Amino acid sequence: MKSSNFCPNCKKNVTNGVGPSGLPEVTKFLHNLPSSHLFFHDANWHDLAYHIGRTEEDRKKADETFLENMLYTVKIECSPWAALWFKLSAYRNYYAVKLLGKRFFNYRGCGASSYTST
Ligand SMILES: [Zn+2]
Repeated sequence: MKSSNFCPNCKKNVTNGVGPSGLPEVTKFLHNLPSSHLFFHDANWHDLAYHIGRTEEDRKKADETFLENMLYTVKIECSPWAALWFKLSAYRNYYAVKLLGKRFFNYRGCGASSYTST
């Protein structure tokens, strides 16, 4: 799981807003939310996907996979009543990155071939 914090191409740690090409603002925003602990790894994955970057199509795919990952996390980690609340959190995070993430996405790409192999 830890290795997913590192870009397979440039080997930089790109998550948690500590890397030079991290997403300090989006990451900080997500980390301030009550669901941040639950979705910590999913958010890290999303940061990495944004660092690897490339096209708007890749960004959409990254956001959608982020949502799928969070919903899966809710499914395996939460009791049924908690799942209801955290599902809402997952959708809120999804719309947050969808709306606010654009300027943090690396449209030049960092050179890694793909982020989809997790
Ligand atoms: Zn990289």
